[in-house]
Amino acid sequence: MSRIAIVTGGTRGIGEAISVALKDQGFTVAANYAGNENRAKEFTDRTGIAAYKWDVGDHEACLTGCEQVAEELGAVDVVVNNAGITRDGTLHRMSYDDWHEVMRVNLGGCFNMSKACFPGMRERQWGRIVNIGSINGQAGQYGQVNYAAAKSGIHGFTKALAQEGAKFGVTVNAIAPGYIDTDMVAAVPEPVLEKIVAKIPVGRLGQAEEIARGVAFLCSENAAFVTGSTMSINGGQHMY
Ligand code: NDP
Repeated sequence: MSRIAIVTGGTRGIGEAISVALKDQGFTVAANYAGNENRAKEFTDRTGIAAYKWDVGDHEACLTGCEQVAEELGAVDVVVNNAGITRDGTLHRMSYDDWHEVMRVNLGGCFNMSKACFPGMRERQWGRIVNIGSINGQAGQYGQVNYAAAKSGIHGFTKALAQEGAKFGVTVNAIAPGYIDTDMVAAVPEPVLEKIVAKIPVGRLGQAEEIARGVAFLCSENAAFVTGSTMSINGGQHMY
């Protein structure tokens, strides 16, 4: 029987590529999403991967959503915490709501999903949790105190939970992507994006599949000795 994986924000962008890579690697995948029904339906029709709607920032919704996946597909062996949002603005313009919403979804989502699935992995003595951080959580970024704090928090969360999971066969790792060609980056104004690309040594944006291949490795048997690590996939933009 194949192992079961949940990918949050798994129906488009980097998450879509991760869902497909894990399916190709033999996992049965449940792709979570927030509310973009058209993209979710189109994704399921094209890939055959089931999509499940819930808000990863909502603790109860995560518990219920993960239970539903377990009932329909089987016990959850892998969680990829990929769902994320931006609410950019310099601190003096940033509202408390913009601060809180980014923390709630990006960092709170990691806690909520891990809380729902880690105990079962621990009991079954096998599990993989991969958290998607960001280059901006490592290096900081102008106009992103909320996002950089949440992503930096993800890297700390990863190292702490890795210590709890290690003796139970549960590995917990992070990937810190650089700038990847998705809807999130398409929202960055063109002149700003040009300046960003100019700072990437390989001279281009990354592709979602390049992040997905890293996730697929971390979820494999071959990565059993890798835990508490952060894999930077950023075209050399930040050598951490
Ligand atoms: P996109 O904006 O393209 O996609 C975001 C996905 O997350 C969508 O599937 C969306 O669902 C889902 N999502 C958003 N909020 C929630 C929520 N509250 N509950 C459940 N799902 C939610 O993002 P990317 O693919 O660009 O980014 C994926 C991850 O990678 C994020 O964590 C991001 O911070 C990180 N990252 C991205 C980089 C980039 O350059 N793109 C760089 C570094 C990190 P729906 O479709 O329903 O809206």
